[in-house]
Amino acid sequence: MNQFQYNKANEPHSAVKLVAKDPDAHFLAGGTNLIDLMKMGVVNPTKLVDINHLPFSKIEKLPHGLRIGALVSNSDVADSELVKAGFPLLSQAINAGASPQLRNMATVGGNLMQRTRCPYFFDTTLPCNKRKPGSGCGALEGINRMHAIFGASDQCIAVNPSDMNVAMRALNATVHVSGPKGARGIPIADFHRLPGEQPELDNTLKNGELITAVELPYSAFNKNLSYLKIRDRTSYAFALVSAAVALHLEGETIKEARLAMGGVAHKPWRLSAAEEFLKGKMVSEGNFRQAAQIAMKGAKAYQYNQFKLKLAPNTLIQSLRIASGIAAS
Ligand code: SF4
Repeated sequence: MNQFQYNKANEPHSAVKLVAKDPDAHFLAGGTNLIDLMKMGVVNPTKLVDINHLPFSKIEKLPHGLRIGALVSNSDVADSELVKAGFPLLSQAINAGASPQLRNMATVGGNLMQRTRCPYFFDTTLPCNKRKPGSGCGALEGINRMHAIFGASDQCIAVNPSDMNVAMRALNATVHVSGPKGARGIPIADFHRLPGEQPELDNTLKNGELITAVELPYSAFNKNLSYLKIRDRTSYAFALVSAAVALHLEGETIKEARLAMGGVAHKPWRLSAAEEFLKGKMVSEGNFRQAAQIAMKGAKAYQYNQFKLKLAPNTLIQSLRIASGIAAS
């Protein structure tokens, strides 16, 4: 058994200080991911800093949007009337993830920090550059059915497992953090990383930085939307592919589209070129098919995930149909 020190933080500054001075220290919130990783020996912290008593448990209305504290549970976010009214895409995405029990425990901050579910990452007897830099990537030539088709490197082809993050990417969230050098806001597009040469780094947080809240700007994307998740079973499974779609429609014309995919990359994958294509176009099967074709440019599959090259565009097309109302959800 690995020994570790447990600390309960009563205010943000001391939590940041405790983690910043120890590279092997971790913040502990819901623990739904971290505790599993500790039990399996994937992560071996010297110190856990329990942040559950910090004042980050509110959902607040701002003049320009919504501020969701980092410690709000996934269930409370999904069930919030403020979220359901302003950001129903986020509610849908969260409810598509995990199980009710996990959603009750898991926090917004923890969901942003979720580690990949690549099986080689979880098995400490197998090579994995993310768990042990320089040891190799078992998935590259191994069982890579769940893995990336966009933005991978020869060091890592893992995907981000979160549903919440995909909706947040489509909704242009900003992640607020507090660290040894003060507070800052990170656009969600810059929060998660692609693996590149350093797959051990999932995000751009600096040493000791603590997520305090997420802000979502109000927009016209709260009426025509769909989060469609394709998985091996209909509950409690990670996405093979998911597609978050939000459309700002004026009659049958798409004024603007927000599109993001999950289960396809090391970060929630925004489909900017397809969004650009759909701007000003009519709602139509033909336009949705062309948008999906554009979205798939640059996709690359491995031995066991070739099926994603078809599944991804089909999921996007169906999600567009649902969001626009030309298909039932
Ligand atoms: Fe590890 Fe990434 Fe390779 Fe999976 S894909 S074995 S997480 S390096």
